[in-house]
Amino acid sequence: MNINQLGEFRLIDRLNRILPIDDKDVIVGYGDDCACVKVDDTLLLFTIDIQVEGSHFLKEKINPKDLGWKLSTSNVSDIVSCGGNPRWALLSLGLPKDLEYGFIEGVYQGIREAQDYYGFFTIGGNVSACNQVMIDMAMVGQTDRFVGRFGAKPGDYLYISSYLGLSKSGLELILMDKKEYEDFEKRLINKHYRPIARVDLVETVKQANSCIDISDGLVADLWHIVEKSNVKIVIEKEKLPIHPDLELYCKKYNKNLYDYILYSGEEYQLALTSAKELGLIKVGYVEEGNGVYLKEKSDLKLLEKTGFQNTLPTQQQHHLELTKDLTLLDKRLLHLLLVLS
Ligand code: MG
Ligand code: MG
Repeated sequence: MNINQLGEFRLIDRLNRILPIDDKDVIVGYGDDCACVKVDDTLLLFTIDIQVEGSHFLKEKINPKDLGWKLSTSNVSDIVSCGGNPRWALLSLGLPKDLEYGFIEGVYQGIREAQDYYGFFTIGGNVSACNQVMIDMAMVGQTDRFVGRFGAKPGDYLYISSYLGLSKSGLELILMDKKEYEDFEKRLINKHYRPIARVDLVETVKQANSCIDISDGLVADLWHIVEKSNVKIVIEKEKLPIHPDLELYCKKYNKNLYDYILYSGEEYQLALTSAKELGLIKVGYVEEGNGVYLKEKSDLKLLEKTGFQNTLPTQQQHHLELTKDLTLLDKRLLHLLLVLS
């Protein structure tokens, strides 16, 4: 049996059982955006995210500064989605021996830009030879209230923090490899390369009952809330905001808007549930039951758990499937290592 046959969730489940957590200071272990540990009067948040050449990025196509920025953003976003502020990061590099120095220097410059913007410091790391570029960042954040995927309650509203669908359309445009792009296309591409984690919303997140950052796609990420909170979430289709650039894109290339709004990953916007008025975009509600549903007029449709469909060339699809599992495995293990250290 290889890990691909096992599937992502069974793999994680089996491995986690080998390493049980028996520590009263661990408030949240596996299975959320961050692990959470109580230290004196504060809650520390731990997360980790990797960027692997060939599965997350193509070296010839990406600006290394954007890569450093994006790696930082994905980590900060997980901290923010648990109601925390990012504080410290560690970096682990796997680099081919013949890699141009300028490439990794560029990645560090991108991380520096992110540090300055988000307000954290990188305080350690290590480097090893590797067949492809791999950059793994672990991050520690801090909060006084942990908000997870498990707190959604019937009666909550569903909120999102902004427009969705921009990252997926941006990636598709990049892969079209056109000589020239229209202005709206350039803006969408920039959304893919330079997503911004919502550090400005930490105080708002702390008001919510549950929260997740949209990294796999709205529907896939809401399923995580549904499963952890044991609730039913209804998205009201007509309330989903449509970004004018996405609308132009879908018209020009004859695409369905909602394939983007519902399924675009790497958005790094937030989905939250709360019974309060949060001042964000209200797009649905939470009920008793199970599943993620889309409501259009009086029609209610169950939405499958489909995640972020990466559109890298097909020869990389298989590789992507495999490294997705490895990434998660790596993530869970490091969560634990950090928690135990
Ligand atoms: Mg997340
Ligand atoms: Mg993450």
